Amino acid sequence: MAQRVLVVEDEPAISESVSYALKRDGFEVDCADSLGAAETLLGNAELIILDLMLPDGSGFDLIGQLRRDGNLTPIIVLSSRDGEADRVAALETGADDYVAKPFSPREVVARVRAVLRRAATEPEPPSKTSRALALCVDEETRRAEVGGRALELTRVEFDLLSCMLQSPGRVYTRAQLIDRVWGDGFAITDRTVDSHIKSLRKKVAGADADPHLIETVRGVGYRVSESQSA
Ligand code: CA
Repeated sequence: MAQRVLVVEDEPAISESVSYALKRDGFEVDCADSLGAAETLLGNAELIILDLMLPDGSGFDLIGQLRRDGNLTPIIVLSSRDGEADRVAALETGADDYVAKPFSPREVVARVRAVLRRAATEPEPPSKTSRALALCVDEETRRAEVGGRALELTRVEFDLLSCMLQSPGRVYTRAQLIDRVWGDGFAITDRTVDSHIKSLRKKVAGADADPHLIETVRGVGYRVSESQSA
């Protein structure tokens, strides 16, 4: 059955082009031009594409409200090109991905597919082994491997990798990584995260694998690549 996407966007040109591309790709689409109009359509949506500036409020409010209610419907935010702060904030509020304007409708469709794929495979955290193709960690033995070769990691490096491997392809902001790896109450700077990532990459390269399996997403953070190559 076709999956239903809700597009919340008040600019008709954008809303129409995104909705056209999605329909052509086999999705069913609802469009709303305000938060109010979106309200009755939320229940049917399997994914939400959300503009941040809407006539009756901010997309952030909707993300926050849904996540507080325990609604985990995937959300892709449409942000302006220079809205780096917005993108970071959207991911931290609970959005799953973002697309920066101007974008091609095909790019949006590709993101929708990727996010839905991830959402479909995500609810299996009980498995102790997370794999992203070449990279893998075993939480129980705290062993990490790349392309079948063992990685000697520090505690922090292991935890960073393990965190990102929970959702290959998902972007983690530095603040999210700090939160999950160090937890509250530690004065960890972004630079500290960068330096641990750097040394993690060195070890991956030292095991004859591609250090860019751990990708930098400029202006946002890091992710483990979904690509196949080691
Ligand atoms: Ca707008």
